[in-house]
Amino acid sequence: MSSIAGHTLQSLMRVTLLSSFFGLHSSENMTETLYRDDAYLKSCTAQVVAATEQGVILDRTVFYPLGGGQPGDIGELRLVSGARLSVSDTRKGAGDEIVHIVAENATVPAVGETVEAVIDWDRRYAHMRMHTGLHLLGVVLPFGVTGGSISAIRSRLDFDMTDTVDKETVCRDLNALIEADHPVLTQWITDAELAAQPELIRTMSVKPPQGAGRVRLLNIPGVDLQPCGGTHVAHTGEIGPLRLGKVEKKGARNRRVNILFDQSD
Ligand SMILES: [Zn+2]
Repeated sequence: MSSIAGHTLQSLMRVTLLSSFFGLHSSENMTETLYRDDAYLKSCTAQVVAATEQGVILDRTVFYPLGGGQPGDIGELRLVSGARLSVSDTRKGAGDEIVHIVAENATVPAVGETVEAVIDWDRRYAHMRMHTGLHLLGVVLPFGVTGGSISAIRSRLDFDMTDTVDKETVCRDLNALIEADHPVLTQWITDAELAAQPELIRTMSVKPPQGAGRVRLLNIPGVDLQPCGGTHVAHTGEIGPLRLGKVEKKGARNRRVNILFDQSD
């Protein structure tokens, strides 16, 4: 346990920044982003604001748009007519719109129409577990993060480090943090509060955006605190056991560490 305590202490002093990979958003969106306040929402009713060949824009949504290494949600829009419109991806559009990508030849709903937006929950929940797991990986390996990617099967972080990764120790410490079932909280901080606490930012390559007014923070008390716009589980125990995949040497100062769900039992 001493290494975990050591990491915890380290992370308290060192608060990390994975935000360039997990996305940051201002609070002024054209599309109300319900997933930010409650990542567990599987569906919502919403009104169609625009529907083009690019996709459907709603006044509010539970669909997470591609960003910060986390894939855009897939799912469907259920129309008043009973028709179901498949959503194959979700992207940020112009301004702060969120675009639900539909098939080119799909019959889209009319502006003003009410729809039920339903995400593929199993896929999203896997993303939430993986995403939270990557935060813990960043705690166990306290190095600068230069890249990252999430999927429902496998996820990875690129670390700015030259050391060899001791897979066994990393795996053990990672799973200890998961099993400790730490609460995972979201809080907002103003630009002024952030500016007053520069130690909150681990300056690897990208700083949190200034001028948006406020920044969304992920807070796993005593473990991790950093700007992040992605979706997370509420307790680390929900991640379930993880195992380390390949550790790839992607350059003199880059170690790519892969994690997977451990479904061995
Ligand atoms: Zn995050």
